[in-house]
Amino acid sequence: MMPATPAAFPLPPGSVIGIIGGGQLGRMSAMAAARLGYKCHIFSPEPDSPASQVSYLSTIADYTDHVALHRFAEAVDVITFEFENVPADGLELLSSLKPVRPGPAILRLSQDRLQEKQFLNDIGIATAPWMEVRDASGLEAAIAELGLPAVLKTTRLGYDGKGQAVLRAGENHHASFTQLQPKPFVLEGFIDFACEISVLVARTENGDMAAFDPVENRHKHHILDVTLAPAPLPLASLAEASEIARLIAEKLDLIGLLAVEMFVTPTGTLLVNEIAPRPHNSGHWTLDACFASQFEQHIRAVAGLPLATPSRHADAVMKNLVGPEDMATLPAILATPGLIPHLYGKTEARPGRKMGHFTRLFPKGSLPGEFGLEAALKV
Ligand code: AMP
Repeated sequence: MMPATPAAFPLPPGSVIGIIGGGQLGRMSAMAAARLGYKCHIFSPEPDSPASQVSYLSTIADYTDHVALHRFAEAVDVITFEFENVPADGLELLSSLKPVRPGPAILRLSQDRLQEKQFLNDIGIATAPWMEVRDASGLEAAIAELGLPAVLKTTRLGYDGKGQAVLRAGENHHASFTQLQPKPFVLEGFIDFACEISVLVARTENGDMAAFDPVENRHKHHILDVTLAPAPLPLASLAEASEIARLIAEKLDLIGLLAVEMFVTPTGTLLVNEIAPRPHNSGHWTLDACFASQFEQHIRAVAGLPLATPSRHADAVMKNLVGPEDMATLPAILATPGLIPHLYGKTEARPGRKMGHFTRLFPKGSLPGEFGLEAALKV
């Protein structure tokens, strides 16, 4: 295959950044790119997508449409992602035509939980104990090894709790086994975590890295509900979490942004649950509480610019607005002083759909505790 046309990095202003995926992560990346003088071209199957609404050009086509992918690649200077489940042959095609950042090998790794966990363990990073499950007898063997409860997950195409089931003692596990798609699966030991955290780290071509402060993430119905920045953990744990994220970015030879989600066990051990080589919902607070957001860092890394300081000028709480229920509170959110709303331009508020978020800032060091938190989010 022909090598990709070399782009002149750093990309000069006016260059076109191609973004695969049209969701809110692409929208906020495109807005950050515009502030840095770039134009974005969105590739998405969805017409009028959140990202295309704020971008220079859009291609509306399926991720398997090689003719459209080819034309898209020819029309841009560099290609990046807000959605990582692009089929492998499409990725190959794109990377044969233009620089793809982060590279296709990272995308492939993050598309497959088994490969991802194997890679993490190989570089010495702890995860929940896990076993591959290919068939019903493999499930029995994995349950015998890991015990119950345990979490059965598809290795591909899982997000927001989709593609997984908690298996408990005394239940019929074969129902979950039959219903979950696609196979194969991974069975993970159930982690009775104290909290969930994440770290976002950006890395440039020459190996410079900048990590945002680790944050705590709370989920509702498997979807991120609230992020607290910084995570209320001892400094040593925060430093360890950042080091883990940096090590992963370095070992992946990442150019771009990486989200690393971790469980914190009751004894303070950090276990990596998942990585995503793109902006992440748990980094939305950086738009309002940092000198440069996760989206700006993503664009800077992809465009070959130096990274900005990831410092926080405020503590922050971010609340997702999911589905019709949360959208019903929008008039109150807009009328509440101190809430900073971000809406994604989606017209239909289906249950479970991320429609927007809001952030509330606090002076550094004064993030509210449990009781204050409820008041901070009240609209
Ligand atoms: P995931 O799709 O892997 O990000 O998982 C979604 C959510 O399910 C996580 O954020 C956790 O709240 C929960 N979860 C996933 N894996 C486990 C596990 N091994 N033990 C306990 N909870 C888990």
